[in-house]
Amino acid sequence: MSLEEAHALATKCLLLNGCDEANARAAADRMIQAEGDLCHSHGLFRLPWYAAGVKSGRANGKAKPRLEQLAPAVIRVDGDGGFAPLGQAIAHQPLVDCARENGIAALAFVNMFHVAAMWPEVEKLALDGLCAFAFTPSYPYVAPAGGIKPVFGTNPMGFAWPRADAPPMVFDQSAATMARGEIQIAARDGRSVPDNVGIGPDGEATTDPNVVLAGAQLSFGGYKGASLAMMVELLAGAMIGEFLSIESIQDDAGEGGPPKGGELILALDPARFGDPSGFLAHGEKLFEAILAQEGTRLPGARRFENREKSAESGIDIPQSLHESILDLM
Ligand code: NDP
Repeated sequence: MSLEEAHALATKCLLLNGCDEANARAAADRMIQAEGDLCHSHGLFRLPWYAAGVKSGRANGKAKPRLEQLAPAVIRVDGDGGFAPLGQAIAHQPLVDCARENGIAALAFVNMFHVAAMWPEVEKLALDGLCAFAFTPSYPYVAPAGGIKPVFGTNPMGFAWPRADAPPMVFDQSAATMARGEIQIAARDGRSVPDNVGIGPDGEATTDPNVVLAGAQLSFGGYKGASLAMMVELLAGAMIGEFLSIESIQDDAGEGGPPKGGELILALDPARFGDPSGFLAHGEKLFEAILAQEGTRLPGARRFENREKSAESGIDIPQSLHESILDLM
């Protein structure tokens, strides 16, 4: 289907499942952006989860996010119990203005459900000339280093750097070896996963995605990834007065809905850090050194290529997913 058709399908499904126009459109924007970049685990695959969250009454499909300035460089957005995309859309320009004024600005999102990737928000900030970080916890899926029981979320971290004559450099990665959505897709499609992805409930290594989903995921890079996962819990949970992943799962109380929690976004205006006319070219020097080596690419490049192709030729989704979406309508 074309991206427009996919967007219309997602919007209609959300409207029929209890979202108002603004919330449905914002969530559909995010899902179709992910489909268009071929990030399937945050595309239409998430639509049944969004719909179930609203239908169960846990997520507010008619949320009206509220913005508050807590300090000169700290903005807080209360998501009113809705999904993140609408609050993110509303908070984008105030965050840009705040970062330009102060050189640095932080945005603390609370009281919302975040089930998406981090790149959309940091990429958008980099398109406005800023350098940006984003972090969010989720549900406890990842074991601490040396342990076998999940404590940390898969806790993604996104980073974007602006470029003058090219799309921003954006990386966005989970603290886990593999994002949970990818493991779920492997389970759905009957594929195995690499043996560093997770362990079963008994702590034994496994390549069976269903056993990993019942046990614990592993952080990338051993204890180093586990420390990054812990950092995300502290920054986007404890610091902003929101759930840790272990608390978010208790709030869900076994419903199996999307995780409620917070997100921290940091935006820096590189032009305010002492080299306003040189930082862009200086960054390019690094990228040139990387790309001069065969076999390299910049993070984000895969998505940008996919985006161009999808805009021309549309997207494919599995028949089973299409049917499960139609069942919701
Ligand atoms: P990947 O491991 O697929 O990719 C991580 C990053 O590395 C991407 O920016 C990717 O760029 C880049 N990259 C991959 N290969 C290369 C390479 N060869 N050279 C240079 N850069 C490379 O991501 P994850 O599986 O860790 O995460 C997938 C998504 O899931 C993320 O968007 C994340 O935000 C999301 N997520 C969301 C959660 C939530 O609770 N909301 C929880 C966990 C994950 P490119 O995109 O161009 O391939």
